Amino acid sequence: MNRISVAHPKLEGNERKYVLDCLDTNWISSNGKYIGAFEEAFAAFCGVKHAVAANNGTTALHLALVALDLQPGDEVIIPTVTYIATANAVRYCGAVPVLVDVCAATMNIDPKQVEKAITPRTRGIIPVHLYGHPADMDPLVAIAKKHGLWVLEDAAEAHGAEVNGKRVGSIGDCATFSFFGNKIVTTGEGGMVTTNDDALAAKLRLYRGQGVDPKRRYWFPVIGYNYRMTNIQAAIGLAQMETIDVSLKERQELARMYDEALSPLNDLLVLPTIQARMHHVYWMYTVFLRSGDEVQRDALMRALDDTGIETRPVFYPMHVLPPYKEDTVYPVADEWAQRGLNLPTHQYLTRDDIARVAAAITGALGR
Ligand SMILES: *Cc1c(COP(=O)(O)O)cnc(C)c1O
Repeated sequence: MNRISVAHPKLEGNERKYVLDCLDTNWISSNGKYIGAFEEAFAAFCGVKHAVAANNGTTALHLALVALDLQPGDEVIIPTVTYIATANAVRYCGAVPVLVDVCAATMNIDPKQVEKAITPRTRGIIPVHLYGHPADMDPLVAIAKKHGLWVLEDAAEAHGAEVNGKRVGSIGDCATFSFFGNKIVTTGEGGMVTTNDDALAAKLRLYRGQGVDPKRRYWFPVIGYNYRMTNIQAAIGLAQMETIDVSLKERQELARMYDEALSPLNDLLVLPTIQARMHHVYWMYTVFLRSGDEVQRDALMRALDDTGIETRPVFYPMHVLPPYKEDTVYPVADEWAQRGLNLPTHQYLTRDDIARVAAAITGALGR
């Protein structure tokens, strides 16, 4: 039987045509019409004034932190369960990522823990919309306001997700996205920063382009970076934005199929939870074994692999990884991360594939 991969990009729109246009016209570097067009399309999609493209999601995070003027010794509150880029970007600035525990089931940053972690050195909060489910933004924005902090949304996994009908990317002071090959929108490698703040957008553009003065060639008022996206990447991105509504709809249908196929296993598995007023975009359809069953997780993943089904474990919390190791106990993250796995979630999956995944899980769990 054919293998079912956990992710698989879909590039069946104008991707090929636009990339060939870049080659045919020689606009292959970081100038060219697709960059502005992609930025505009992405800003409109998120409902923000500015979108600034970068060469990947990690540099987008670093760029945002530089533009927010993060300094060595400053503290930034992040969830302990995330992809490591969130923590690394804070470290690139010489600042300290302060880890906090997450909420059960959504695995998103817990606002109650954020409030407790604030010190005089805290500058901001980076909520991560993990696996496509938005973080609980209302209390986070309120806490930030009360303490004079900024909020940077790490929306790398959540293109199109919504809180109270507002798209992620438009809720915090700024937000970052990734367009890596396995994300909901891809440009191969790529990233974006979104914001409604004109001054912040100008700083993002300045630091992205080596710090060159926009009005004076070869004049560098600051130390910047080369975090520019290429026209070829943007060409793919623009084509991806033309089909984003269909992509998001297909992911919803996939999630409904999984919900239906896995609901008989309700006593063994925790299926995705959606908080009120939130729209989940299912970057990864994620399930958890019941409490006490964490020892079975890796065996389940191996059993699925044996039948040709690729899965992924939920991210290790940052506090167990060598660069960010702590002895602190984060009760929810410690327990839930070990119980969770991402099931194949991409637009080529058929109803039969979902049935096959569900049957393999059912068999592996002894039903
Ligand atoms: C993918 C991802 C990133 C980094 O994006 P890259 O494009 O791979 O650099 C950052 N944060 C989160 C939560 C991610 O999932």
